[in-house]
Amino acid sequence: MNKIVHKDNIQNNVSQKQLVDMFDRSISYLRVSLTDQCNLRCLYCSPKAIKDKLSCGELLSYEELLRVIGLAAELGIRKVRLTGGEPLVRKYIDNFIVGLGKIEGLEDIRLTTNGVFLGKYAEKLYQAGVRKLNISLDTLKPERFKEITGADLFDKVWASIEKVVSMGFHPVKLNMVALKGINDDELVDFARLSLTHNVQVRYIEFMPIGKASLWSRERYLSTEEIQEKISVLGELHPVQSAHMDGPARIFDLIPHSVRTNEKKTGRVGFISPISHQFCERCNRLRLTSEGKLRSCLLSDNETDLKAVLRAGGSDDDIRQVLIQTILDKPKGHTLQEKDKVNCHGEMSRIGG
Ligand code: SAM
Repeated sequence: MNKIVHKDNIQNNVSQKQLVDMFDRSISYLRVSLTDQCNLRCLYCSPKAIKDKLSCGELLSYEELLRVIGLAAELGIRKVRLTGGEPLVRKYIDNFIVGLGKIEGLEDIRLTTNGVFLGKYAEKLYQAGVRKLNISLDTLKPERFKEITGADLFDKVWASIEKVVSMGFHPVKLNMVALKGINDDELVDFARLSLTHNVQVRYIEFMPIGKASLWSRERYLSTEEIQEKISVLGELHPVQSAHMDGPARIFDLIPHSVRTNEKKTGRVGFISPISHQFCERCNRLRLTSEGKLRSCLLSDNETDLKAVLRAGGSDDDIRQVLIQTILDKPKGHTLQEKDKVNCHGEMSRIGG
């Protein structure tokens, strides 16, 4: 085993394995795309044009996933996010999450979802130990929701959000991709939500990814532009990021004037892969729905872990692939330098 990537991390007198890459980044977070299928057709992510979906046999089975994640946890992975595609369209996901919860060393299981089936699964997810949810929501207008996603389901998603908040999931993060000319007139309304609801609103810069992307400079809004727009509502005060927090920069939103139905302070986050590259803090590894390991969302380099699994690979073979992928993790991406799509894989397969 390669010693470069394996350090001992002593915390509270407990020694834990830690995976460290060539640039001294500790890799503790695995994002897993459970399926490339999605029940929505967001115009910037997965339009109808993408027809060649993976067959069931092409996806890693739950047994294969549990094996890989178990080995990754032994090596030092502490946090797993289930994403896709839409993870809640994969059958028996609740049983799978129960299995994940039994993996020793895994401290945190999170889910990213479009929320459509969340109401149905909320209790099961809660029982399985999931507490942290990211829900993608690009608009608060039902008609616009239909235009963006191709489905008239805003009310259903909103009801799911209210349900999970009232059940005690925390944090519930609402992810909105800021798209100029599409939803930028709602930036302030989203920020206000953090004052009226127990949610954290997170603004994501639109990235040039995949064939489906309608990305262009004209559609892109930088974090600075977003912050400028929401400053009419209040002041932003940076919050120290917590253990295992992702790349979002989090702020308290302190309103200029407080209405009776508002909390005193809301919390908003900004994910700024283009304007504030966070590669030096990136702690992520990805497992795509095709069973490939990928160390950077924005680089098409992948290792075929499924091939190793299905050729009868031993646990050591799998560990070696995990370690090698981490060793090959690039220092950073070059998105700022090129106004073009430089990640050709689809977000739904890689796992957004
Ligand atoms: N179906 C789930 C959902 O909707 O949350 C999980 C998968 S989806 C691909 C994950 C996230 O990726 C969503 O928040 C989506 O808005 C975001 N996303 C997709 N394409 C993107 C792009 N080009 N730039 C920024 N975010 C993108």
